[in-house]
Amino acid sequence: MAILLFADHDNGTLSEQTAKALTAALQIGPEVDILIAGKGAAPAAEAAAQLTGVRSVLLAESDALEHRLAEASAALIVGLAAGYDTVLAPATTTGKNVLPRVAALLDVMQISEITEVVSADTFKRPIYAGNAIEVVQSTEAKKVLTVRTAGFAAAAAGAAAAPIKAVEAGTEGAELSSFLENMLSSSDRPELSSAKIIVSGGRALGSEEKFREVINPVADKLGAAVGASRAAVDAGYAPNDFQVGQTGKVVAPDLYVACGISGAIQHLAGMKDSKIIVAINTDEDAPIFQVADYGLVGDLFDVLPELERQL
Ligand code: FAD
Repeated sequence: MAILLFADHDNGTLSEQTAKALTAALQIGPEVDILIAGKGAAPAAEAAAQLTGVRSVLLAESDALEHRLAEASAALIVGLAAGYDTVLAPATTTGKNVLPRVAALLDVMQISEITEVVSADTFKRPIYAGNAIEVVQSTEAKKVLTVRTAGFAAAAAGAAAAPIKAVEAGTEGAELSSFLENMLSSSDRPELSSAKIIVSGGRALGSEEKFREVINPVADKLGAAVGASRAAVDAGYAPNDFQVGQTGKVVAPDLYVACGISGAIQHLAGMKDSKIIVAINTDEDAPIFQVADYGLVGDLFDVLPELERQL
């Protein structure tokens, strides 16, 4: 019952999502190999080798794998798949791009965004924007899974390092796509998906300027990441990569502060697993109060500047 975990990394560093997906993998079986596909990715491979429970790290390096495009990455994984019963990856942008292609090439059905491992062939995953949990038992000879990492603790780094083995990268799939540009918004704040505290703004902010003026100072005081509802993103108050929810990022910070967000199910799908939820809203009947641990019925334009002063 060998398991191949396709790692999320940026060549230099291994993302925490990989350590969380490793916890899920180890609940499926003990023989877990981590695949680092990249270029100049030895540092990521070394970090992976340190994680407790890893059997070995496979390091595949080539120009085509530098950005882990789906075509070249999937060809690599399919080439290795004969030795594994299960292939999995964290449900990050890369994992969600690569694994469906792996599943299609292997002619099996992917099980997406698992939140719990029941047994080696049975998993739980949310459906209907998180309003129901589906228990899926797979009879596929090879299982292809993505892991919603918010539900799993990160595997810790141990004292002993697992062996790192070089594997042939090949060129298959490389001609099908090429990397042009990575446009990242630069920010000193923590990354939204892994932030411990998130302050999120909704449609009520009214403009990009007000969003920045009212949300950012509180986020700065708390050392928090900034999130947004889709309404705020669609209106141009906040950039696309701030969106939390069903079609945005799924987050589970220690503290989530929802400001002027009504609490539509599609938004809740992305944040209701947060440990403590604080909601600030003028409407005492807003659905966000049903999931909030602390609710403040008030005007965010009064409450947030006061909160900043108090902090
Ligand atoms: P509104 O629903 O308009 O709520 C604004 C809130 O602000 C209200 O509750 C109001 O009482 C309050 N308010 C107004 N003024 C103030 C004030 N001065 N102070 C305090 N409170 C005030 N949404 C997401 O967020 N993420 C998603 O990923 C997402 N995916 C979707 C996918 C699909 C397929 C669909 C159909 C919808 C999706 N949506 C998503 C949209 C979702 O349904 C809601 O439309 C959206 O979340 C509403 O955003 P909002 O809460 O900011 O705005």
